[in-house]
Amino acid sequence: MTNLKIDGDRLWQSLMEMAKIGATEKGGNCRLALTDLDSQGRALFIGWAKAAGCTIGVDRMGNIFARRPGRNDALSPVLTGSHLDTQPTGGKFDGAYGVMAGLEVVRTLNDLGYETEAPIEIVAWTNEEGSRFSPAMVGSGAFTGVFALDVALATRDNNAAELTLGAELQRIGFAGDAPVGEHPVAAYFEAHIEQGPILEAAGLPIGVVTGAQGQRWYEITVTGQEAHAGPTPMPRRRDALVGAARMIDAVNRIGHAHAPYACATVGFVQVSPNSRNTIPGRVFFTVDFRHPDNDVLTRMDRELRAACTEAAATQQLAAEVKEFWYFPPTPFDARMVAAVREAAKAQDLPHQDIVSGAGHDAVYMARVAPTAMIFVPCVGGISHNEIEDAKPDDLTAGCAVLLNAMLDCADGAA
Ligand SMILES: [Zn+2]
Repeated sequence: MTNLKIDGDRLWQSLMEMAKIGATEKGGNCRLALTDLDSQGRALFIGWAKAAGCTIGVDRMGNIFARRPGRNDALSPVLTGSHLDTQPTGGKFDGAYGVMAGLEVVRTLNDLGYETEAPIEIVAWTNEEGSRFSPAMVGSGAFTGVFALDVALATRDNNAAELTLGAELQRIGFAGDAPVGEHPVAAYFEAHIEQGPILEAAGLPIGVVTGAQGQRWYEITVTGQEAHAGPTPMPRRRDALVGAARMIDAVNRIGHAHAPYACATVGFVQVSPNSRNTIPGRVFFTVDFRHPDNDVLTRMDRELRAACTEAAATQQLAAEVKEFWYFPPTPFDARMVAAVREAAKAQDLPHQDIVSGAGHDAVYMARVAPTAMIFVPCVGGISHNEIEDAKPDDLTAGCAVLLNAMLDCADGAA
């Protein structure tokens, strides 16, 4: 394992320069995908990458690849990066950190005159955030075959349906000509702020990301009988809301029972007829379960169904539990995860294993290449917010881990 340092001040300066594009009043960033500001951010990155000696390729999805050749340039590149687009009230670090960390890796190798065996590439993925064009992660999704290219290009602006993603790519000059996905990748690393509170609370600069959570989403409809709130005695009621309330409480209990990794949320409830003097006859609500282990997700599924059956029976209700969406857990490549852990150890950086609760481009990349992520803490665990913040020392630490883990792969030592 190599043990090279990066230039933390230069990394910080790059982040702060990038953050001037689309800077918001409260210190955040608004660089929505494929706006003029996104285009300016892309141009700034490309200018820096060229100055660092990289060649630039842009594919038909607008994904940008900056390449530093290897000694054996026929080898597939070791790729790193993230995204430059932000939420409407986003921060300076979500996404930008991963791209700027990749740039700092290349600049450091240049400073040292270090020639890697395999080429190194930095990628800036198109429309990771999914705020202007839904769904999210569509650039890496098209690259990895999750979305067909024509479907991705036909995606419409959520606030201006006449604008498609493909037309906006053309307009800002980033509809490239490279075919999408026909780009072999030896390994993919992504450095990112954690966007949660775990590392900060533990006082650790590095999270070794072992994978991303699986998700099971449900739609549940509880049916009872509408009746007058006055003349209907309590024992005769078939109150759908009382049944739903017990089910919602069960969802929360299932989440706690599978701590610390389980997440269980009811975020949407519709009560019908939603009238203060009518006993509710029907309730519709959603459930969002997440866990990194598929077996536990399966157990949570069974517990949910049992709880719904029981709550319905005691209230003489009918309950329909419909699974709406299933996204299996994505464990990252064990060898890549080990390379991240070893790099943290070699730098004497305190670290812990962590699971990503959010979606990232890396989750799609894990389908086509050995993949790992590096998390660094963000202040208060807050992200997707203009006050999003991170400490320079932590950003420096994450970038040093990225550099050494990448070298481990690029020089074939992993
Ligand atoms: Zn991000």
